[in-house]
Amino acid sequence: MLSDTVKEGLAPFVDPDTGKVNLLGLTDERMEAFFAVLGEKRFRAQQVMKWIHHRGAESIDDMTDVSKKMRAILHDIAEIKAPEIVSQQDSKDGTRKWVMRVTGGSCIETVLIPEADRATLCVSSQVGCSLDCSFCSTGKQGFMRDLKASEIIGQVWLAAKSYNSLAANAKRKVTNVVMMGMGEPLLNFDNVVDAMNLMRSDYGYGISKRRVTLSTSGVVNQLQRLSAVTDVSLAISLHAPDDELRNQLVPINKKYPIAVLLDACRQYMADLPDSHRVTTVEYTLINGINDSVEQAKALAVLLKDFPCKINLIPFNPFPQSDYKRPSKSAVYRFQTVLIEAGFIAPIRTTRGDDIDAACGQLVGQVEDKTKRSQRHKAAAEEKIRIIT
Ligand code: SAH
Ligand code: SF4
Repeated sequence: MLSDTVKEGLAPFVDPDTGKVNLLGLTDERMEAFFAVLGEKRFRAQQVMKWIHHRGAESIDDMTDVSKKMRAILHDIAEIKAPEIVSQQDSKDGTRKWVMRVTGGSCIETVLIPEADRATLCVSSQVGCSLDCSFCSTGKQGFMRDLKASEIIGQVWLAAKSYNSLAANAKRKVTNVVMMGMGEPLLNFDNVVDAMNLMRSDYGYGISKRRVTLSTSGVVNQLQRLSAVTDVSLAISLHAPDDELRNQLVPINKKYPIAVLLDACRQYMADLPDSHRVTTVEYTLINGINDSVEQAKALAVLLKDFPCKINLIPFNPFPQSDYKRPSKSAVYRFQTVLIEAGFIAPIRTTRGDDIDAACGQLVGQVEDKTKRSQRHKAAAEEKIRIIT
């Protein structure tokens, strides 16, 4: 039915794993380019995006205002394919966690945290992670593979459908997305940027730039490329007031030390058209490691001229780690030093404890958390070599 020229034109859009074009992962520009190959106008791209992201269409057949002829063509060459939900758990506090299986059989996790005035979705960017931070259970898994754009936005699509937030009159919405699930988003740059652009797009989820947040442990060379392609908010995983300690907790610090990371954040903020935004600094408090009053004071000095807000996250213990969560009083002591120094420093209360949904536990029982096979190690090393 399609000419060879058209088939050739479609090739860059085809997912090699399925031989089909997954419409779920196409950004505004790519969807337009895809329909241009089929001789269709921009309007068609927007129409199809609205079906998928606004109304949650699962099948091309649902798109009743697309002509039958075009639907038949799309049927042959395209699909709407999200990860497969393996399990859904609801916590007493309303937190909802999904384990999802992606092509190839690996599992990822996605967490929705509803609050009074918002609902925040925590999204994974990779299966596992190569950066091996000492306090992170995802890091203990090693790196398996990058998620595709369709697998990243697919988490938003599935969560929004499950939360019933797609209907035109829906009272509930996924209002915020944080790239704080499994993986280091800046090591999967292109796919993460495409997915975030879909979160931002009016034909996608229409979420404002302040409510989409990329969290990074500090892959500076990639951070330097970010402002050219997006304007989302930025969070950095700092966790230590000095390089000596940060080298132990966050090994990428040996390549990009704290001063270099803070400079890259300043530059990112300076490149954005609105100059009032600040970086979120994440600081996981670990008992006896980085939670002393002296360390709080050192952190206040370090960040004195750095426009930021500091999120304090009490460490979430997991079986493969000897680290412990500090006492409540130690957490308050640390916070008080920062507040007295003039910082905004909320404590991120752990939610979804009863379903293991808290930060750093985004690895299900479905996979052996400690298994770092030679293959994973080799893949991780290769990844670092390529990217850095
Ligand atoms: N790779 C990115 C995003 C994913 S990690 C990054 O490192 O920023 C998201 C956040 O969870 C990070 O701030 C990370 O430091 C924190 N985190 C990881 N394991 C944790 C644990 N066991 N307890 C508390 N916070 C943890
Ligand atoms: Fe990777 Fe982030 Fe975990 Fe570090 S904290 S191992 S960068 S997911």
